[in-house]
Amino acid sequence: MRRETKLMHYGRQPLPGPANPPVVRASTILHDTVESYRDTKARREDDDSVLSYGRRGTTPAHALMAAVADLEGGDACYLFPTGVAALAGTISAYVGAGDHLLVVDTVFPATRSFCDSVLPRNGVAVDYFPWDATDLSDWLRPETKAVVVEAPASQTFEVMDLPKLTAWTRDRGLTVIADNTYGSGWLYRPLELGCDVSVIAGTKYLGGHADVMMGAATARGEAVAPLRRAVLANGQTLAPDEAYATLRGLRTLNLRLERHEQSALAVARWFAARPEVSAVLHPALPGHPGAETWQRDAGGSNGLLSVAFEEGYALEAFLDRLRLFAIGSSWGGFESLAMIIDPAASRRFNYDLPAGPMARFHVGLEHVDDLIGDLDAAFDSRGG
Ligand SMILES: *Cc1c(COP(=O)(O)O)cnc(C)c1O
Repeated sequence: MRRETKLMHYGRQPLPGPANPPVVRASTILHDTVESYRDTKARREDDDSVLSYGRRGTTPAHALMAAVADLEGGDACYLFPTGVAALAGTISAYVGAGDHLLVVDTVFPATRSFCDSVLPRNGVAVDYFPWDATDLSDWLRPETKAVVVEAPASQTFEVMDLPKLTAWTRDRGLTVIADNTYGSGWLYRPLELGCDVSVIAGTKYLGGHADVMMGAATARGEAVAPLRRAVLANGQTLAPDEAYATLRGLRTLNLRLERHEQSALAVARWFAARPEVSAVLHPALPGHPGAETWQRDAGGSNGLLSVAFEEGYALEAFLDRLRLFAIGSSWGGFESLAMIIDPAASRRFNYDLPAGPMARFHVGLEHVDDLIGDLDAAFDSRGG
């Protein structure tokens, strides 16, 4: 069955039945005999889809776990209340006191702040490496246990060569954890490129409608057991309504991504031709760092791009003049967004980023001509 068809059938209940798995709100699951209770507890030990207690998820969460595991090409998926909770919970599953963690320098800023604030207090040492390193010998220690990667990079979209990097990590007993929020399991599948765990902030494209917070971590092989243990011990879960809304979002994941991609590419090319713009950062644009790797490893790009303006350009006033692009954090919903970024501020290595002010745009599902018209009008008003 093709992936597009599977998106429509995830969570299908026995017929006759509703097309969507129902929201089941429950803490306690009632039994009429002690034996039934005991049997359920025994079965859930090796089956995460057994309905046993609200904290272990109910019907829509179980359907979503199976759906994301399949989407990502993994063996098991666990759900979290936010993307950051999924990243923090996943990283914590593989490193503890005395261990050393390697993190790509271009990682999502909130992941970095977890690594810099919580991990050292728990006795974990953290080092950063540049996005284009595929041999980490310079940073490796005997106690290095895991590597955190993200492709394309947050905000600037440099593309790591994950097959090359994981060929290097493979014989060294390192667990490789990927933040796959950009690719969301549809465009990009880090588990097939040699990573052990793939984390998606489903707040973005899985939910897709700017009204859900959630995270999903999918593991394969030996990486499943430590993740499962940590999730159960920490009591991580996703509420049934959020699981339902995410599953509903998934039905149109491919269609939305196709439109986001087309429109974002049109906007990127349009920006590149403007005299006020010094650089457009998008992983599918020729000449972008790692563009050939993205072409080789991914099935497409999404609605994100960053734009560097000429030095001294009044970017804030430009963004304020936009009517269809609202100013806001996050992305992956149906709506267009813009925000000022300063990617160099949190990074340790110098990547020759453009000198002028930068903004990140999320190109939504509005008609692309309207969006370009909005940008054009903001340039024409000449605040800059
Ligand atoms: C948004 C995002 C997260 C965090 O997700 P939340 O649901 O906002 O906690 C993690 N990684 C990336 C790449 C993101 O874009």
